[in-house]
Amino acid sequence: MKIGGLEKLSLIDYPGCLSAIIFTVGCNFRCHFCYNPMLVWPSKELGGIEEYKNKGFSPVPEEDLFLFLKSRVGKLDGIVITGGEPTMHHDLPEFITKIRELGFKIKLDTNGTNPETLAKLLEQKLIDYLAMDLKAPLAKYELVVGVPVDCQKLLRSVKMVIESGLPHEFRTTVTPGLLEIDDFSEMGQVIKGADAWYLQKFKSDTELVDPMLQGKKAYSSQEMEEMAIIGSKFVGICQLR
Ligand code: SF4
Repeated sequence: MKIGGLEKLSLIDYPGCLSAIIFTVGCNFRCHFCYNPMLVWPSKELGGIEEYKNKGFSPVPEEDLFLFLKSRVGKLDGIVITGGEPTMHHDLPEFITKIRELGFKIKLDTNGTNPETLAKLLEQKLIDYLAMDLKAPLAKYELVVGVPVDCQKLLRSVKMVIESGLPHEFRTTVTPGLLEIDDFSEMGQVIKGADAWYLQKFKSDTELVDPMLQGKKAYSSQEMEEMAIIGSKFVGICQLR
C-alpha cells in the first residue's frame, strides 16, 4: 500500500469514534476543487516536494504505519482510510484485514468508481462505515471530476452503500460554477433512501487540482442551507459540514 500521509488523531472524521486517518496515494479522478493535488497527480507523489510537506503530508512506510497502529491499540476506536482513492490499490483488502486484526473499526472513503472492490470488501465484512462522494448530477459528473466516468459503476456503488446495512454517508463539495442549487433534486434522487448526505463548502485558500478555481468565492452558508433543505427530502439527514 502506498501511503501518502497519516493523521494520528481525529475527533471528527469517523462519526462517534476517535480515529486516525490514512491517506493513500493516487486517484482516478481529477476533481477541479480537490485540495489534495499532491495525493492525486503522479508527478507530485511522495517526498521531497515542498508543497506536499507544507500540507502536513509525509509518506509513511507500511512498516512504520503498523508500529504506530500497534501503539494506538486501546486508545483509538477506528481508522479512516481515505485518499486519493483507496480502492485503486489492489492490496486494499489485505491491508484492511491487517488493521482489523489489531481490533480497529474501519471507515472507508471512496469516490465509488470501483464497485467490484467495494463488493469484495463488503462480502469479507471488512468495513464498518462507508462514505462515498456524490460529486454532481450524473449528466455533469465528467465536468466536475475532469475525466470520463462510467456512471453505471457509480450507481452500482451507490446501491451497494445504501443496501450495505452499514452506517453510511454521501458527501458533496459544493463548488460555485460547477454545481447550482437546481442540481440538488437530481442528486438527491440518485441517493434516495441513504442515511446521510453532507454538503461541504468549497475551499479556495489552498492549492487545488484546478488552479483556475484558486481564490473563487464559495457559496454562502445561507445558499448552502437552501441546498441542504432540498437534499433532506431524499435522505435521513442532509447537513452542512
Ligand atoms: S476530491 Fe477525492 S476523488 Fe476527487 S480528485 Fe481529489 S482525491 Fe480524487
